[in-house]
Amino acid sequence: MVSTFPNPSSVDLSRIRLSIRSLQPQLIEWRRRLHQQPELGFQEKLTAEFVSQKLQEWGIKHQIGIAQTGIVATIKGNKPDPKSKIENSKLPVLAIRADMDALPIQELNEVPYKSQHDGVMHACGHDGHTAIALGTAYYLQQHHQDFSGTVKIIFQPAEESPGGAKPMIEAGVLKNPDVDAIIGLHLWNNLPLGTVGVRSGALMAAVECFNCTILGKGGHGALPHQTVDSVVVAAQIVNALQTIVARNVNPIDSAVVTVGELHAGTKRNVIADTARMSATVRYFNPSFKGFFHQRVEQIIAGICQSQGAKYELDYWSLYPPVINDVKMAQLVRSVAEEVVETPVGIVPECQTMAAEDMSFFLEEVPGCYFFLGSANPEKDLAYPHHHPRFDFDETALGMGVEIFVRCVEKFFS
Ligand SMILES: [Zn+2]
Ligand SMILES: [Zn+2]
Repeated sequence: MVSTFPNPSSVDLSRIRLSIRSLQPQLIEWRRRLHQQPELGFQEKLTAEFVSQKLQEWGIKHQIGIAQTGIVATIKGNKPDPKSKIENSKLPVLAIRADMDALPIQELNEVPYKSQHDGVMHACGHDGHTAIALGTAYYLQQHHQDFSGTVKIIFQPAEESPGGAKPMIEAGVLKNPDVDAIIGLHLWNNLPLGTVGVRSGALMAAVECFNCTILGKGGHGALPHQTVDSVVVAAQIVNALQTIVARNVNPIDSAVVTVGELHAGTKRNVIADTARMSATVRYFNPSFKGFFHQRVEQIIAGICQSQGAKYELDYWSLYPPVINDVKMAQLVRSVAEEVVETPVGIVPECQTMAAEDMSFFLEEVPGCYFFLGSANPEKDLAYPHHHPRFDFDETALGMGVEIFVRCVEKFFS
């Protein structure tokens, strides 16, 4: 890994980078403040108050209380734009999205900025996303003469669950003025500091879930002929579900069916009358929408019917896949190349079966979601996301702001 930030000798110490370097201590301060007061989805009250207070301090127009705790800030650039001379022509609008919620995890890091909320922790880096979005808002407000167009910064609640993007869209955050494109990032400990994971097309998977109860007929473990054994039925279903990916999905596509829970029985010599399973389904290809639900139900119904069991199936879709627009991914990639300064810092092979509700925004407008490498094993900052010892290299905060700011200037030019 080659990390060339923040002390490379060869880089162009441009005006943007210099200003953002001077912002770095504040970015760290804001991030640590947010880290100490993590809040779960739709409960981001202190977080939203902090964001709103900062925006107000800097004179940035914003709306609060969108989808409960969400905030949208609007910053208008006033660089003269030749297009604006055409009467009634709409200036372009670029949105930047950051999520603000934490997870129900007890933090095990012994750091001065450790979580002060028992059992709640910023273990995914959303404190960093909020700090980066704040830093971007601050910079753009200070330098509004450097870009033409309007930037909307969306501070979103509840990404981890149950999802804040959809209610924010329903509340109209992409309208008035209408958003033309959107960008967003995730600090990413799967990549080292100094790298950016960016690609066009699918970046993250769709996630669907199901719960299934197999209804058999219980009885004595020595007298199976009097029963319908829900354990035997469930075992066949778990195996057969694996054939969807292995035999029904084109091998060029990727998908996962994971039965993560299977519960049945109370005693070794009692045949269980019911078995319960819960599962998660992941895929990249949007054309699979509806397909897995259909195949899962066919398999469960077929096996139950053959064994004389009944079933109850509850199947739902959580988030669609994160699909990046080709042009917007090119824009982010070209900017990232300026920031990380080296082609080895660009990692297009960064797809993951993890999911993100940024996908709902990307279904509405073209955009690009990307990963900003934040792991630094030398500083023991490389634990995976959602781990009680997750933390990241805060050098990435300034890189995030720089990428966003450069994207804004490039998008409007
Ligand atoms: Zn997460
Ligand atoms: Zn996350």
